[in-house]
Amino acid sequence: MQDLTVLVLEDEPFQRLVTVTALEKVLPGPILQAANGHEAVVVLSACKAVDIVLCDLKMTGMDGLAFLRHASSSGKIGAVVLCSELDPVLRQATVAMIHCLGLTFLGDLGKPFKLEGFSHLVNRYRELCSAGPQLLSPAELPTLSDVQRGLDNGEFEAYYQPKVTLEGQLLVGAEVLARWTHPQWGVLSPAHFLPIMEEYNLINRLFWQLFEQGLALQQRLGAQERVINLAFNLHPAQLACAALTERITMLLKRSQVPASSVMFEITESGLISAPASSLENLVRLRMLGCGLAMDDFGAGYSSLDRLSELPFTQIKLDRAFVRKMQNQPKSAAIISCSVALAQALGISLVIEGVETDEQQARLIELGGTLAQGFLFARPLPESHFIDFCSQQADWHRC
Ligand code: C2E
Ligand code: CA
Ligand code: CA
Repeated sequence: MQDLTVLVLEDEPFQRLVTVTALEKVLPGPILQAANGHEAVVVLSACKAVDIVLCDLKMTGMDGLAFLRHASSSGKIGAVVLCSELDPVLRQATVAMIHCLGLTFLGDLGKPFKLEGFSHLVNRYRELCSAGPQLLSPAELPTLSDVQRGLDNGEFEAYYQPKVTLEGQLLVGAEVLARWTHPQWGVLSPAHFLPIMEEYNLINRLFWQLFEQGLALQQRLGAQERVINLAFNLHPAQLACAALTERITMLLKRSQVPASSVMFEITESGLISAPASSLENLVRLRMLGCGLAMDDFGAGYSSLDRLSELPFTQIKLDRAFVRKMQNQPKSAAIISCSVALAQALGISLVIEGVETDEQQARLIELGGTLAQGFLFARPLPESHFIDFCSQQADWHRC
């Protein structure tokens, strides 16, 4: 792997000198430095990318928080390490903010700077980079022409993540998630190509490719009298297209897959400002017999009115609630309220992001019935998903 570029953002000159000197001794790559957020912005704009920003938070002028907000949109930062004396509650909120900005948080070193702790985080960063799919160096993000070539060559592939019952782990369906088998980088996750696809209106092309792959799988399984319910992610921008339902109807007919075996997941934030034509498409999809899921429920702005107005058949509770459940009692309260809400509306609730046995047990206590998460299965390529299905004694439907 290439040498790492590190940026040290620290206003206290002596601290900065000690940190930079220590890093220069152990890391071969460039160690950049800045005394405040403004300087850091200038340094960042002058370089191709920074692998790790070592960030103090409090300083006069533009502070560390403002710098991170500013820098997150540049796509040039690989990961952030905090190095601050802030009290733990504020640091926790800062970590949440870093996640919200879409940045990778590596760890919190506190102060004064300790080389040992930092070396440990550098190793973690290298591990993440060598895992490839999750974290490329930002300097290596695919370009538009690369994405177009990938679409032309059919390099985008449907992966399938099972939705299961919390008790007994019975298969009830699967979510279709996009992966790009890149000739140079291997399998890439959506974070590496969706932003550029959104910017250049390519999401629709991706959708049709995955939809056809999913229907082909359903058709093949259907020929063996096996039914699997598949859920496809629809980007809010696609809902504005008048021809959407027509083409879905045509493809369902051609593949002989019943509409009731197909669901579409739409994020709640995409629905807040949806024009009437988008809502019309949602109604049409339901009239056709497809399911509709409100995705990432609870992560965006509250959209209870949309939930009551629109014909949703499923809520997918954002995985942030499961992640925080153990440390924040309020998250558990939100989960049990969501269970009650779905019950009252007569629709299903899938809890996302279940990773441990403890979470599974607690979610059952809170009344949860359906879930999705790494504990049960990661998103699987088609052949592995078929193996997963074959291990099920009986298939249940959502
Ligand atoms: P999503 O729709 O909320 O999909 C679930 C994401 O959570 C997936 O990430 C999945 O791999 C991940 N996940 C599942 N279980 C766990 C778990 O236990 N722990 C953790 N930490 N993560 C888990 P992925 O595949 O990277 O997709 C990210 C997002 O990209 C999706 O979020 C969806 O919004 C979008 N996306 C993926 N494929 C498509 C697509 O074909 N079209 C559109 N429009 N969006 C897509
Ligand atoms: Ca989804
Ligand atoms: Ca989701």
